[in-house]
Amino acid sequence: MRLYIAVLDQVPDFMVPTLVAHTVLGAHLGMCGNADYQDWLNNSFKKCVIRVNQKEFDRIGQLPGTYLGHENSTLAGQKSCAIPVPVPNQSLPNVLKFAKLWKPQASDPLPQEPRELIGYCEREEGWYPMHAPRRGSIVTQAFILCKYCGGSVYHCGGPRSDAVCLACYQLEPELRGKS
Ligand SMILES: [Zn+2]
Repeated sequence: MRLYIAVLDQVPDFMVPTLVAHTVLGAHLGMCGNADYQDWLNNSFKKCVIRVNQKEFDRIGQLPGTYLGHENSTLAGQKSCAIPVPVPNQSLPNVLKFAKLWKPQASDPLPQEPRELIGYCEREEGWYPMHAPRRGSIVTQAFILCKYCGGSVYHCGGPRSDAVCLACYQLEPELRGKS
């Protein structure tokens, strides 16, 4: 017994973790009263993520009890992840039995030159590293300034309001902007 998580092949790779997390949670809440689902939850817990085309997706969507998920920001909010109620292996429909496991669509990206760490971008949810622009990329001719000390983070690519220089990043939070 296995839980199948079917992702429509039109969903961009970067959205798949969010879409799958969202849909699994929804399916769990929706299927909690289902005996087959409980059986899977207590005795199997095996799962797999598959990539399906629209035709296969529609077929899976018609299986009884299938939970359909979507992201408002992706494919104009159309249903793009389908989770059928787990069934014993011998009653598995062919559309699931022969499905392809999901893997990223993109082929291996070209190796990229390492880029210099110039500072950090401070957001509500945490810190993001900021790197020097790639060689040959188009940048604004404005300094990026540190929001704490006003010092230069980088000589171009600005302005931005959330940049923090490496020195301030390393300071204790209460000491930032006090020098
Ligand atoms: Zn600074």
